[in-house]
Amino acid sequence: MFDSTFVDSLPGDPRADIAPRQVRGAAWSRVTPTPVKAPRILAWIPEVAQQVALPEVAPPEAAEIFGGNRVPPGSAPYAACYGGHQFGNWAGQLGDGRVITLGERRGVDGLSREVQLKGAGPTPYSRVADGRAVLRSSLRELVASEAMFHLGVPTTRALALVATGDGVVRDMFYDGNAGVEPGAICVRVAPTFIRFGTFELPAANGDAELLGRIARYTIDRYFTEGGASPDVPEFFTSVCRRTAKLMVEWLRVGFVHGVMNTDNLSILGLTVDYGPFGFLDAFDPGWTPNTTDAAGRRYRYGNQPQIGLWNLSRLAGALSELCPDHDALASGLELYRREVESEQRRMFLTKLGLEAHEDSAVDAALLGSLFELLTAAETDMTLFFRGLAEGDVSPAFYGEPPRQLSAWLGAYEARAATHALPQRVDRMNAVNPLYVPRNYLLHEVIVATEAGDLAPLHELLEVLRRPYERQPGRDRWAARRPDWARQKAGCSMLSCSS
Ligand code: AMP
Ligand code: MG
Repeated sequence: MFDSTFVDSLPGDPRADIAPRQVRGAAWSRVTPTPVKAPRILAWIPEVAQQVALPEVAPPEAAEIFGGNRVPPGSAPYAACYGGHQFGNWAGQLGDGRVITLGERRGVDGLSREVQLKGAGPTPYSRVADGRAVLRSSLRELVASEAMFHLGVPTTRALALVATGDGVVRDMFYDGNAGVEPGAICVRVAPTFIRFGTFELPAANGDAELLGRIARYTIDRYFTEGGASPDVPEFFTSVCRRTAKLMVEWLRVGFVHGVMNTDNLSILGLTVDYGPFGFLDAFDPGWTPNTTDAAGRRYRYGNQPQIGLWNLSRLAGALSELCPDHDALASGLELYRREVESEQRRMFLTKLGLEAHEDSAVDAALLGSLFELLTAAETDMTLFFRGLAEGDVSPAFYGEPPRQLSAWLGAYEARAATHALPQRVDRMNAVNPLYVPRNYLLHEVIVATEAGDLAPLHELLEVLRRPYERQPGRDRWAARRPDWARQKAGCSMLSCSS
């Protein structure tokens, strides 16, 4: 059985057809998934199944239900309405154009979570697009969101990957050469998928009534601790704190989201909407995996905290309609700035196995020279930090090691002699992963899966369950990017076509 507090608590669109339209005064629209030809479960995540009270092994009816061919009992599926700023510009209404939520289910832990199908067919928010998703993008979302969970980064999760048996037409390079690709649905799970854009749209429409109801619902359900219900500025401050933590966590594991539009920022501070994301191979603050962002590099690795602030400022703007005390919202942004700065410094020191120096200029100098070192020659981020703990960084360099290496290592060792964390190596290996879903690995797994071989997908999912622990016989999943992947689409760069 499914239920839905989102639908029960917030006003819905009176229409139930899928004609594209502007929806006013409503937070959701009724829509039924469009059936697919031959649904087949390609991956099923047992712990996520338990979180939504489903069996650890996919039951026979799972393919029909999660492929969208059969609406399960109690489910009243819907698409959510929201807006957003895309690449810095207000885009108006966006909404779930290919996501359909089946409802919520309470897990064995007593917590209720939403279950949604991404790629389930058109909704009133699909505009001119088809509501579908290709296998490569659905697989990337499933693997990356599960990887992030096991890395300890706040994220939505994935229950299943379902091949639809239908073809989906995509122009991957936006060059007029469209092709048919296999379609798939990623079944996603989170306490809620409410985004910054969920608040921005009613604010932009001047609908203070709807904005207030959405804020009340969100606060009461997700931000109330110990019976005390925060006011709007307290709620906003909490979102600022969660977003700050998320940005620092992305930097820690070398994650670049790629499309940090306000419609892709979770109100709970979860990583959401995995598209043209990437994990850094070579450390480069200027790197973006998203070809659509190649010119401006707005969403580059090192700029993410700055964009987090920009997005929070848009959210503050929307909430200001509900809160006459604008200074209270401004102080949330100030807190974000401070937290990102101090937590980022602390996080990078922890990656080095160090405790903060009493003189913060000493830390700034050490980290400054570290970033210079990492960018002076092409250096694999993941292997560098692992190598540092293990006493040999040489496998991290794609070419010649940089000249400053031995000087920096000397300074580091001297510093570590006085400000090291106890059990330094263990502590370093607990924050520096060995296995991350590198784009080239995902590409190889996609090729195998499309050819009908599911073994690499399942092995990768298994490896990524213990990303901090060296696993015998699994070196291939920790290897740095091979030469063939350097300029290859899907490996070094990705388009939004998904
Ligand atoms: P994104 O930036 O990829 O999260 O998506 C931006 C907007 O485009 C959202 O409203 C999506 O629902 C919508 N969208 C993306 N792909 C499709 C598709 N294939 N069909 C319908 N809507 C889509
Ligand atoms: Mg999105």
